[in-house]
Amino acid sequence: MIEAEPGRDYVDRETGERLEVVAELLPLAPTASELPWSVENLRFCNWCDQLAQKDLNDCPHCARRMTPLAPEEEGDAR
Ligand SMILES: [Zn+2]
Repeated sequence: MIEAEPGRDYVDRETGERLEVVAELLPLAPTASELPWSVENLRFCNWCDQLAQKDLNDCPHCARRMTPLAPEEEGDAR
């Protein structure tokens, strides 16, 4: 998936065809998370205190990057 900026044309490197925007990603897209909207899957955004799914990196309300809840990646904390 390519992140496209509005107003810019993107050309396929191999075919030279102009890529058309099929779907725009919106900050409030409800499909951004695969988790059901239930309490155990929700957290509070550290920026705006609104509920957001835990598997989201960016808050769906204020679109800011939320701090990770519990870092599970081991060996990466140096
Ligand atoms: Zn927020």
